Parts: sequence; C-alpha cells; structure tokens
Amino acid sequence: MIIVMEKGASQEQIQAAIERIESLGFIAHPIIGVERTVIGAIGDERDKPMLQQVENMPGVERAVPILQPYKLASRELHHERSMIEVGGVQVGGELIRVIGGPCSVETPESILASAQAVKAAGGHMLRGGAYKPRTSPYSFQGHREEGLKMLQAAKEATGLPIVTELMDPRNCELVARYADMIQIGARNMQNFQLLTEVGKAKKPVLLKRGLAATITEWLQAAEYILSEGNPSVILCERGIRSFGTETRNVLDLAAVAVVKRYSHLPVLVDPSHGTGDYHYVHAMSLAAIAAGADGIMVEVHFDPQQAWSDGSQSLRPDKFARLMNDLKPIAKAVGRAVDW
Ligand code: PEP
Ligand code: MN
Repeated sequence: MIIVMEKGASQEQIQAAIERIESLGFIAHPIIGVERTVIGAIGDERDKPMLQQVENMPGVERAVPILQPYKLASRELHHERSMIEVGGVQVGGELIRVIGGPCSVETPESILASAQAVKAAGGHMLRGGAYKPRTSPYSFQGHREEGLKMLQAAKEATGLPIVTELMDPRNCELVARYADMIQIGARNMQNFQLLTEVGKAKKPVLLKRGLAATITEWLQAAEYILSEGNPSVILCERGIRSFGTETRNVLDLAAVAVVKRYSHLPVLVDPSHGTGDYHYVHAMSLAAIAAGADGIMVEVHFDPQQAWSDGSQSLRPDKFARLMNDLKPIAKAVGRAVDW
C-alpha cells in the first residue's frame, strides 16, 4: 500500500501516519518529495486488511493499493528516476555509462592491460570476476581474494571503480571491501539469502536478470535488496534462455523499456552474455542505448584469444574503442549524452 499525504501535510501528520502504519505491523518507508510526501507501507496486506484505515487520518490524501508485487522498486512509490553513485560515477542520469573488462580476473598483468584499454577508450568502470559461477566444477573458478587484490591494483593504476561478482553470502563483507559495486549474477538472482545479505551492505548492487526470470521476478529480486535498506540497485539485462543455438541467450531489449515503465531503477545491458559472440556485441550495444538503457556492461579483454573464460564474446581493445565512438550519435539521438 502507498499512503499519499496531502500537499500541505504537517510534520506531525506525517509522523502520525508513520506510527499508525507501524502499529498495524508494517514497515513504513517515507519518501519526502519537494511537493508532497508519500509513505510506502511494506508488509503482507492479506492478513492485515486494516491498513486502508490510514486513509481516514488527517493529512492523508489517499491510500493506494499496489498492483505490482514490488513496491520500493516501483515507480508508483518513487516516480522520479533514481540516480545511483558508484565510486564517484553517477548511473541513471543523462550520461550513458560503460563498464568494461574481462570475464575473469586472470593475472595482475592481464587485468591491468584490459583496464588500461577500457580507460583509454573512455569506459567508466572495470569489471572482472574473482568468484566465477561456472557450469562445470572443473572450469576455472576464479582467484577469489587474490583476484580482488588484482582488481584493486588495476583500480589504483587507472582510477576505474570496480564491479565484481559475489556468489556466497559468507564472502559479502570481503567482496564489499574491494568492490565499488557488487554484482549478483544471473544464476543467483533468486538466491534470496544472498540478496538479503547485499541488502544490508553499504555498496551499490548490480542485479543481473536470471536466466529464465520474468521481469516481475527480477524486480521482486530487487525488492529483496531494497527492503533490507540498500537503495542502490542497478538492474542488468543479460539475455534469457530460449531454443535457438545461434546466440548464447536471447537479449531481451524490450525488457529495458518495460523496466523503465514500471521501475525507477537504472538499467544496464550486457550484450556479451546476451549474445555470447563478439560479432554481435557492437550492434546490440548500440541497440541497448537506443532502447533506453542507462549504459552497458561489455566484456573487454586485451587479447581475447588468451582469455581464461568467455574469450569468444569479449571485445579486443580496438573493437571496444570503435564501439565507444559509435555509441556517441546513438546516445545523442535518444536524448542522452556521453562524456568521452
Ligand atoms: C558475468 O558477468 O561474468 C556473468 C557470469 O554473467 P551472468 O551472471 O549474467 O551469466
Ligand atoms: Mn563472462
């Protein structure tokens, strides 16, 4: 339920509404706007039908039932688009943002070379996995904390903030120490314990869409994080499973438009995992920005043929630089700007 206060509602009236919501067993999330205050009442309304009574309180304009099964992620509660700061970079504003880097952190030299390529072309953040969710237990699993240290060294050398994946709630504190943004991978989108843990972390979260998740399930996953008190969630469309074999996944660019309609959260697109083939990354990156994405996350490797994972979908530095250049007119055409 969303409690919309009247325009001139007093502080006392707002406080009284909050207290009433809480006394009925809900968590109150006030959002103080320039014009008016709205209060999200979070909780299961099915066994507490009394919430509607708040509507009768002084200063309350109306109580609106929420149709979507997510509240904090919804634009109903938070109409203006969210801007989220990641290591000094604002995501979700007019400027398009680009995260680049290898699939896995391999060696100190290779992550540095890839980071320098990302930086030189104008990229804003460095990605790289130190904990890798591999389909086979015999594949390279990541260097774990050693990988995080390699990322940190690359950050110190280039100034690029770090985006890296967390797979296990037990490592949350450790990963949060190194990461500027914690990535939750597709395979863990519905790992609710992990979502709850990053919801308590003080770092932005990049929430990738699950392999077979509906958009509503994805936003409900975001709700887990938001409802724990972490407001900094950025969504990332990375393709969903279908029957074709020509691409690794089906990159659902319509999802960008749907998310923009129903949620205030920024959304990025990962054309690398979305297609699984570097031949298609350029076109899908341009299409993502045209569709309204706030940025892209692309796998970039200084030498993809030597990559330890996902080399076939990684861009060489020269191809990444060309992509960065070609993004400029697309961003402009859809009313966005670039800073490179
Ligand atoms: C990744 O970004 O490295 C990754 C494993 O992606 P996804 O979770 O989308 O498969
Ligand atoms: Mn990868």
